Amino acid sequence: MNTPVPEYLADLLRNCKAFEGGQLATYIPELASADPNKLAVALTTLDGIIYTAGDDEYEFSIQSISKAFAYAFVIEELGSTVVKEKVGVEPSGEAFNEISLDQTEERAKPKNPMINSGAITVHSLIPKTTRADRAETIRQFFSKLAGRDLSFDLSIYESEKDTAFRNLSIGYSLRNLDVLESDPVEIVESYIKQCSINVTVKDLANMTSVLVNDGVLPTTGERILSRQTVRQVLTVMTTCGMYNAAGNWLANVGIPAKSGVSGGIIGVLPGQVGLAVFAPKLDQYGNSVRGIDIMQQMSNDMGLHLLEGI
Ligand code: GLN
Repeated sequence: MNTPVPEYLADLLRNCKAFEGGQLATYIPELASADPNKLAVALTTLDGIIYTAGDDEYEFSIQSISKAFAYAFVIEELGSTVVKEKVGVEPSGEAFNEISLDQTEERAKPKNPMINSGAITVHSLIPKTTRADRAETIRQFFSKLAGRDLSFDLSIYESEKDTAFRNLSIGYSLRNLDVLESDPVEIVESYIKQCSINVTVKDLANMTSVLVNDGVLPTTGERILSRQTVRQVLTVMTTCGMYNAAGNWLANVGIPAKSGVSGGIIGVLPGQVGLAVFAPKLDQYGNSVRGIDIMQQMSNDMGLHLLEGI
């Protein structure tokens, strides 16, 4: 690849505009009014240099991409043994909003932290302090990773909260089985607030840089996550990050990734690059159609597939 990176990224977006298809998410009413034509891409190098193209200043709610970083946060706070007792690491092969409980072990637990039942449980493990509730604690953590003060999108939050019947029923089931240990409504609402944190593709690229760089934030040199935490997070991103499309993703793109229902996708190739894309129209699995196309092209052009040429 000899084209300079900014031109390469701009070309990618130009070519992918022809790529139609997909639907806006509608189950969060506020997301149904998103602009379907927004399109953005960002890339971070190992040393934290960011390249972007398209609508790179456009903010959207992070949604399920938050699950990967919240998982990293609780492992770092509580240790992986405690977290693994609560949430498994098996791909569910089911949609993101299935309850997917593993009941084969002594204690029931959500199959993995990338589906809602696991992510709600992970959220419940974020320590509450007198100065900050769980959502605020995670907003501060994400802000540190992004390198700027992120905000909640309160209209997205209220919109999802008002129609959160499915997530509430997951919360009640988890509480019934003692997976959640306190009020499920409070936990689910706070989890929804976590999903409403506003980011741009540039923020997401900055956030991925800590995973690319073995737990150290390249912009400040600060170690945020241990090597083991990064390994654990990248593992579940690889096996479960794209829900029931994880197998196709691994075959076609081949890097750990996480998608969100507002249209974002992040990808991480440890030691090399972090990628973030945004395009709101989704396929039947809830993954961005144009986002997948762009990621696939980048993977091919840059030879990113984990299992290629080894
Ligand atoms: N907030 C959404 C939910 O919990 C996130 C889902 C997603 O991005 N796939 O349903």
